[in-house]
Amino acid sequence: MTGTIVALATPPGRSAIGVIRLSGPKALPLVRSLVGDDHFDPEPFRVVLRDIKDLVSGEIVDRALVTYFKAPRSFTGEDVVEISCHGSPVIQRHIIDLILHLDGRLASPGEFTLRALANKKLNLSQAEAIRDLINAQTNTAAVQAARQLRGELAAILQPFKEDLIRIIVIFESAVEFSEDDLPAPQTQEIRQELADMLLHLRKLASTFATGHLLHDGLRVAIVGAPNAGKSSLFNKLLGMERAIVTAHPGTTRDSLTEPISLGGIPVLLTDTAGIREAHDQIEGIGIGRTRQVMADADLLLIVIDGSKKLMAEDRELVTYAKDARHLIALNKADLPSFSSRLSDDLDTSSRIVEVSALTGAGFDQLSAAILEPFGSVDSQDAGLLITDSRHHDLLRRTHDEIQAAASLLTEEASEELVLVGLHNALRLLGEITGETTTEELLSTIFATFCVGK
Ligand code: GDP
Repeated sequence: MTGTIVALATPPGRSAIGVIRLSGPKALPLVRSLVGDDHFDPEPFRVVLRDIKDLVSGEIVDRALVTYFKAPRSFTGEDVVEISCHGSPVIQRHIIDLILHLDGRLASPGEFTLRALANKKLNLSQAEAIRDLINAQTNTAAVQAARQLRGELAAILQPFKEDLIRIIVIFESAVEFSEDDLPAPQTQEIRQELADMLLHLRKLASTFATGHLLHDGLRVAIVGAPNAGKSSLFNKLLGMERAIVTAHPGTTRDSLTEPISLGGIPVLLTDTAGIREAHDQIEGIGIGRTRQVMADADLLLIVIDGSKKLMAEDRELVTYAKDARHLIALNKADLPSFSSRLSDDLDTSSRIVEVSALTGAGFDQLSAAILEPFGSVDSQDAGLLITDSRHHDLLRRTHDEIQAAASLLTEEASEELVLVGLHNALRLLGEITGETTTEELLSTIFATFCVGK
């Protein structure tokens, strides 16, 4: 955590502008060397134009805009300098190399944010919100991350902490002056307060059911017999509901898995038709990679050609999916030979939506039916949602500790015993915002950040 760190703050690759960021005590001296001027003393928070020089070769590398953010009024709380150079990977690499040769060190993932945390520029849940904001795949996910970044989660938790501290103080003084047991009315009052707290904690924790979808997304696998219309349906959904972020690790525009946004929830859609063509040509459905994709999916979207008689493969799939979350799209509703009666032949209680991948008919119902089992989130109406499994786990454990304390109180156990649970609860709540956090935990969390943030 020491020294002056440097990293590219914009994505690698070619662009109009690339921003290189430095943070640490030597940020300004390093930039003095870069611009070849020992007296370079830029006014803080003002942009200046300078030539960036390679002192060894004497060549001018680029002309760049330099901004000095003087400590402590910077993102990290340290001296920060941002160099906006031209967005060429060669130039960016050259400038970063110059800094590394001088006295800089390459930042590790999330190290800028970690320093901001150490300097109390933000709390831990806000730091995590920055990561989530950068990684957000849909508007709703971004809105939720922005709310957390504004400190909403910490603000919601603050009254819980204050109440816990107040109750702890009452019990601690009862222990101190042990001859005065708590009067019965006061115990009753505290029991009620703890019960209210438990209710609120449960309510907050329950938002994770939809909140985690914003974070982790939903995996939907499109399965069905050949020519049922899987690829057509996949493309139609993609065309209608593009996610903000196109590139998902390991996927491209033409790949089998693409992210879309359904009702604000990031959905990873996999077309198993392509898998079969590419890899499983000699294998039947439910074998090899298709089976893997089906097993990993949160929902199976079974496409059946509604313009033809049911095939053995259709029945096989519906049977296979019985125990998994699934939905049937009865496709080709635009054809005269289409018959809704096919669904009676299927002999299933599955949800069936009639669609046409050709005309797009029924797709609104299809989108709604995909989300139905998961509950939808409306970016405008939803309150703050718990999106991070770490926060959810801590809330759950806080709840359990308070519940244990409340039970002990009912059983008229000693104050010391009741206090154990209350102290634990307070510590766990503190872990969410990072007031009580170990180094080890911090390094695990920050390993999930990108470099330059
Ligand atoms: P897949 O093998 O399941 O991926 O099926 P495709 O998406 O490749 O579609 C097979 C054939 O059915 C193609 O000729 C499509 O144009 C056609 N098709 C797919 N969906 C519809 C639909 O809703 N209506 C009509 N009329 N044709 C469709």
